[in-house]
Amino acid sequence: MSTLAERLSEIEARISSAAKSANRTRQEIELIVVTKKHPVALNLDLLDLGVRNFGENRDQDAKPKALELEQLCIGKNLDYKWHFIGQLQSNKFRSALGYASVFHSLDRQSLLDSMISATSDREEPVDVFIQLNLTEDPARGGIEPVNLLKFAEAVLACSKLNLLGVMGVASLDRTPEEDFETIRHASETLCSLDPKASFISAGMSEDFETAIAYGATHLRIGGAITGKPMI
Ligand SMILES: *Cc1c(COP(=O)(O)O)cnc(C)c1O
Repeated sequence: MSTLAERLSEIEARISSAAKSANRTRQEIELIVVTKKHPVALNLDLLDLGVRNFGENRDQDAKPKALELEQLCIGKNLDYKWHFIGQLQSNKFRSALGYASVFHSLDRQSLLDSMISATSDREEPVDVFIQLNLTEDPARGGIEPVNLLKFAEAVLACSKLNLLGVMGVASLDRTPEEDFETIRHASETLCSLDPKASFISAGMSEDFETAIAYGATHLRIGGAITGKPMI
């Protein structure tokens, strides 16, 4: 069985080689290690291996974990970040804002409304991605690509939200190539409105090399690095 360090370095090597094939640099790609369903000991091990970006998708699990890690890291002066990557109930945003600094799943007006009210008294804006719906099923959540610009205008109108770009999860309806092309096209459209919102959160364990070829800047990789869930 491979160790965490071996899996991380194998994925790092694959990211670098996919970046090279796409004529891109490793530095323009951020690796977020998704630690959901694992205990905080994994985050500690990852910190030792140099990882500074963690992804979680449930506030109920992430909040106590973030608190624990903070306690365990007192005095260590480590600059790490939590990325909230899963669907978020509007009434949980305020809680998640207690630890997460990047929200990848802004996917509907009601969540935007609660982001606007919960961030009104902040000094620093919060980083967000707009999540696209790449399925045929509107119930799956996410902004339909045709509605992206209108929704993005509403996000950009809020000075306490810093729009980084678009996020997507490849669907089972089409090939990853088709979905990542849709995301890239949506990203170009968004950039016509705000050139700074040029980042793309896409790519998971099974498809990150394809995502890199289509311009992904923020990879969210879990299982290929963390192994099977422990809890
Ligand atoms: C779990 C999860 C990931 C990571 O998935 P893996 O297949 O384990 O790499 C990425 N993005 C989201 C939104 C997730 O929920």
